[in-house]
Amino acid sequence: MTALHPVALVGAGPGDPELLTLRALKRIEAADVVLADDLIDPRVLALVRGRLLRVGKRGGCISTDQQFIHALMVREAQAGHRVVRLKGGDPFVFGRGGEEVDALRAAGLDVEVVSGLTSGIAGPAGVGIPVTDRRHSAGVVLVTGHPGEGCREPDWAALARTGLTLVIYMGVARCAELQAQLLAGGLRADTPAAVVSAAHTARQRHAITTLADLPACIAREGLTSPALLVVGEVVRQAARDATALREVLRA
Ligand code: SAH
Repeated sequence: MTALHPVALVGAGPGDPELLTLRALKRIEAADVVLADDLIDPRVLALVRGRLLRVGKRGGCISTDQQFIHALMVREAQAGHRVVRLKGGDPFVFGRGGEEVDALRAAGLDVEVVSGLTSGIAGPAGVGIPVTDRRHSAGVVLVTGHPGEGCREPDWAALARTGLTLVIYMGVARCAELQAQLLAGGLRADTPAAVVSAAHTARQRHAITTLADLPACIAREGLTSPALLVVGEVVRQAARDATALREVLRA
């Protein structure tokens, strides 16, 4: 029998438990204690058999200090418990997973990282957007719209010039500002754009529009965080079947 790592940093995927990896499911079921972010779908939390500790970090709600999360993981692991740190999507995509690995290693603990489906790829895919369709784009940029403390603001004008698909996490609140910078950087106003909110959850909603209309569309449709903004020609693929959407995107 292989020994379990003391702490597993597990990606829960975007929502639907069918999008968990088999390894994620095994670690969740075997855990004595699970420290879960607050973006985790209730259907995934229902799989937890051990103690469940909610340690959400979202603005506006009760948020747990990152240092406290580190200390809690270390304490539980040192007590001999099998610890799972459950994070939305992929633990190494905007999830502070790197910082948590550093803190655990600094405490002399071994860490297993269990990758998950990131919302920025699975979310668009769920509404028919292939983020790197070669007919439209040579690649995709996963970028934060809310860099926060200790993270440099992305060079939006430079990103606008790459011709790559932009998948913007945490971008809803600053959408108008990001749109202005991308337009100033040379992206056409009629560049297709999409918003996918609460992807792969019971509350999923999305909209397809253009870069020019993006902030107004978010307000009109009442689309809220957590959401991805997708900007680029690949968004046209989502519009294929819907006449109304073809109207919006008529070049
Ligand atoms: N590690 C996560 C991202 C964490 S940052 C991942 O790989 O997906 C949090 C941001 O991710 C949210 O603000 C939102 O932009 C995005 N996000 C996470 N889950 C989402 C979901 N189910 N639907 C849409 N966006 C989501």
